[in-house]
Amino acid sequence: MASQGPVNPSHATFDLFVQAQTCKDVKHHFTQLCRQLEIDPEDFGSFYAKLKERLNYWKAKALWTKLDKRASHEDYQQGKVCTKNKCLVLGAGPCGLRVAIELSLLGAQVVLLEKRETFSRNNVLHLWPYTIYDLRELGAKKFYGKFCSGSLDHISIRQLQLILLKVALLLGVEVHTGVEFQGLIEPSGENGWMAKLQPRSHPAAAFQFDVFISAGGGRFVPDGFKHKELRGKLAIGITANFINRHTAAETQVEEISGVARIYNQKFFQELLNETGIDLENIVYYKDDTHYFVMTAKKKSLLKKGVIKQDHNDAEQLLAPANVDYEALCNYACDAADFSTGGRLPDLQFAQNHAGQRDVAMFDFTCMHRAENASLVKERRGKKLLIGLVGDCLVEPFWPLGTGIARGFLAAFDAAWMVRSWGNGVPHLKVLAERESLYQLLSQTTPENTSKKYAAYSIDPRTRYQRVNLSSIQTHQVQHLYDVEKTHPSFKKQKENSAGGSEELLKWCQKHTAGYKNVNVKDFTRSWRSGLALCALIHHFRPDLIDMSSLDESNCVHNNQLAFSILEKELGIPPVMSPNSLANTDHIDKLTMVLYLTQIQSGFPTGFQ
Ligand code: FAD
Repeated sequence: MASQGPVNPSHATFDLFVQAQTCKDVKHHFTQLCRQLEIDPEDFGSFYAKLKERLNYWKAKALWTKLDKRASHEDYQQGKVCTKNKCLVLGAGPCGLRVAIELSLLGAQVVLLEKRETFSRNNVLHLWPYTIYDLRELGAKKFYGKFCSGSLDHISIRQLQLILLKVALLLGVEVHTGVEFQGLIEPSGENGWMAKLQPRSHPAAAFQFDVFISAGGGRFVPDGFKHKELRGKLAIGITANFINRHTAAETQVEEISGVARIYNQKFFQELLNETGIDLENIVYYKDDTHYFVMTAKKKSLLKKGVIKQDHNDAEQLLAPANVDYEALCNYACDAADFSTGGRLPDLQFAQNHAGQRDVAMFDFTCMHRAENASLVKERRGKKLLIGLVGDCLVEPFWPLGTGIARGFLAAFDAAWMVRSWGNGVPHLKVLAERESLYQLLSQTTPENTSKKYAAYSIDPRTRYQRVNLSSIQTHQVQHLYDVEKTHPSFKKQKENSAGGSEELLKWCQKHTAGYKNVNVKDFTRSWRSGLALCALIHHFRPDLIDMSSLDESNCVHNNQLAFSILEKELGIPPVMSPNSLANTDHIDKLTMVLYLTQIQSGFPTGFQ
């Protein structure tokens, strides 16, 4: 009988590309494939079409069917909407790759930069149902047969990156690894916006672009963006990966999709009694590795010698010099052993990128979030649209598994923004729309997003249940348009900016005038005590609030009261916690402007 393997060399290379398990191999087989088919991968406009035409292989065709279905969505206007746009994407994490795919479907030229050469993160990501659907539709199962089989709802970070890298390359995204982005270079002479790279002589340094999407992860914030710190109570996360040998015994051990202390006091008490380990929660996923993520209590980490010395400052507390690595390994191993009832026979650590036992401790006490998701810079008459996606937009709390879910939503929102940009929508409108959507992101859950996964697209209306694309208006995003001061449009911007917010401020002042201990002067400090908000409510609806019962020093109570009334009576959800509003460091001007704009429109005499 004839051999089942492909006889055509390009078919064999395609198989190797599909199966490749390292970033290096993916790139190598892709280059080989392009050579064999005589297609220039930099010919982004017709790359995918030529690939389809020349690779007449049944296995590839099954993938083309999937990708064609996605590409035929009306949002992409047959891949023509962004043909004039050139996009630089920073970071080949899952979110950078996901947004790059969307931008190439829109027809843009996309260059993606990644400083690492390898994809080495074993840690496992929880996937919301929509992300599973989305990845399946991109052909995830063809690249990774085990993808979310049965009821599995997770994937290792590296596998996810590999899948998305393959799709991105097939769609004509130019991916450069081993190159670090070091900043933007402003237009000069005939040149447009470019990037400063390391190595400096890298060919991508010559790329000129009008869209820059940063998906640099963690705390990477490009110039012009500010991060807000959301400081919660001390939360110490531990991740650990053990080798999965896929034995029958291992297969039988059940996953723990998230046990929190409040739901299972008995389990955590027994864990403490038997091992001295005190946790808030624990998750166990069986994936390429046996992966555990848990939140540990400081006291037990000190007692078990994992943390050497107590410090109030979380950074000092978890500084490498203050952590006993051996004790940390034992702690994670004992927690894993206990929580799986000792049924994982031989708990041996998998290796991390540095060839060490893959266990790590992270500080989740202080989470970061960008104040805004977009920005337009203009120099020498050349505009650059900048957007953030993924962890550098909103840092996720890993045990809750929101990283990919919210990361992909932001990637789609960013693609929608670029689509408007490509369609010639005025820049302030593009920014206002993007910021309106950004307000929704942190509140999204699998429950309050649409369940019609098949209808999901980059159009936000297909994903968010209640979406108002103009909840933020153009005058509120003037500060996100950064134009050089000598430019004629700068003066205009200044005038508009002052006009927009000042009108709202005047409205607030007018309707809070005369109330005791209320003096509205700005969008931050003046609202701290909650009395100004209560006064606004009282002005329009005196029946809802008894001002004489309020105490200026009881800020959190006053804020809570105002938030509840506004939500119940006007349907305006709170945009921050009563505590945050009581603390001036946590009040974000833009958020407050949005909130007050909603209140202004909400009262019957709203625009008086
Ligand atoms: P990332 O995945 O962080 O990707 C950012 C990419 O940008 C990286 O590849 C980085 O090398 C690259 N980059 C950064 N700066 C530059 C530059 N200047 N030039 C070029 N490239 C640059 N989430 C969980 O839910 N559970 C976990 O256990 C978990 N473990 C994690 C472990 C680590 C070490 C890290 C970094 C993240 C972890 N996360 C975890 C978070 C999760 O990986 C992210 O939520 C998810 O990958 C989406 O992130 P992203 O694509 O925005 O950024």
